[in-house]
Amino acid sequence: MTADFRHFYQKNWAERTAIVAQQAHLTPAEQALFKQYYLPQHHEIIENYLTDYPLPMGLAVNLVVDGVDHIVPMVTEEPSVIAAASNGAKIVKRAGGFTTVLNQREMIGQIVLEQLSDPAATAAVIEAHAAALLKVADAAHPSLKKRGGGARRLRTRVLGQGYLSIDLFVDVQAAMGANMLNSMLEAVAKSIGVMTKQDALLSILSNYATASLVKAICDIPVGLLQAGRYAGKLVAQKIASASTVAQLDPYRATTHNKGIMNGIDAVAIASGNDWRALESGAHAYAVKDGQYRGMSTWTSDGRMLHGELELPLPVGIVGGSIKINELAQLNQRILGIQTAGDLERIMVAIGLAQNLAALRALVTTGIQQGHMHLQLKSLAMAAGATPEELPVILQRLELASQQDLATTQQLIAELRQTKEETDD
Ligand code: NDP
Repeated sequence: MTADFRHFYQKNWAERTAIVAQQAHLTPAEQALFKQYYLPQHHEIIENYLTDYPLPMGLAVNLVVDGVDHIVPMVTEEPSVIAAASNGAKIVKRAGGFTTVLNQREMIGQIVLEQLSDPAATAAVIEAHAAALLKVADAAHPSLKKRGGGARRLRTRVLGQGYLSIDLFVDVQAAMGANMLNSMLEAVAKSIGVMTKQDALLSILSNYATASLVKAICDIPVGLLQAGRYAGKLVAQKIASASTVAQLDPYRATTHNKGIMNGIDAVAIASGNDWRALESGAHAYAVKDGQYRGMSTWTSDGRMLHGELELPLPVGIVGGSIKINELAQLNQRILGIQTAGDLERIMVAIGLAQNLAALRALVTTGIQQGHMHLQLKSLAMAAGATPEELPVILQRLELASQQDLATTQQLIAELRQTKEETDD
């Protein structure tokens, strides 16, 4: 029988868990998981809260950004991410670390008008009143101005087919600023409505945060890149070639960029930031000239390998769920950051470190060698190996002709059988 989901959001936690248990035929042991990860304050964050979903958090080390050493908390379920970030960062540390460039930290929000017979004329009216509209924006969230931020400028863009976008640039200080900006935009949209007799189609921030760009740069003597039988100069040249392929081919660029975001997302989650916002902005920036390309570039003159990564990374150190997430706040202390800009610099550097480690592995021994040991560990645990059994199972798995779930379960069964026989 299907459970009754009417007014589900009004049910209390016990009622909600009972409904889910009934619908999904959950055992008492399965239901106990809800209690195990339950945090009462999280009812305040999302609707229909059930429980928390634990993800591993670890630390990447060796990251030097603008001369400062950072320990980087990362939240990820992918086995090789933290090892790769630390490995890439270590190579760059030996070369003096990452340098970063951050010139501006403003969020852009847009108000879109539609069905305009003469969008350029409407744009001219709005631009003539820009100063007054900026005041309206500031009045909608006055505390921002008091902190030294606030609305900075207004731009209009004729989009075609009768649409006009009015873009508001706001200095959101230490926050990511989505909610603050959205309140400001709705107030400005009302004033524009009075001014132009046009109701806005929509008013919301844009995640294409091109006024919040941050860049990481590194220069590595090729000797530091040597990997097994591959000389450093050859590795550098191959990394540069792989980078060129990611500029030419969207199939390769997508995976290249996924590796970069492996690092950035993990820090975004650990610092309580909205990683979906960063993902959408970063991928949009990767297609800024009309073709989707690798986010980073690597070049080599045979002596040095030069790497660059520039991305929009509008993150916050206050606001959103950060204020009620104790671990996010603790992680800021571990990161050793004072400002949202500091966090941006670390995130872009970790993305480039991650990318370096992935490319170096890819063009030499292949990605699987490093990955597989960690993947086999996940496989063994999924097959039911206990922590005590893990070392032996991993050894046997590495020698096995097939590395799949059935083989692993077979190996575990054999190990337990042998143990029983020896115990007898
Ligand atoms: P908040 O709505 O929490 O606003 C920021 C808060 O931080 C305000 O309460 C502000 O206080 C406080 N604050 C304290 N110190 C500072 C400081 N130095 N500088 C700036 N603010 C300070 O968060 P945001 O506006 O940053 O919005 C982020 C949230 O919005 C995220 O959770 C995101 O997921 C979500 N979101 C994202 C969207 C998107 O990406 N498209 C769309 C909608 C929401 P005070 O009020 O006194 O100014």
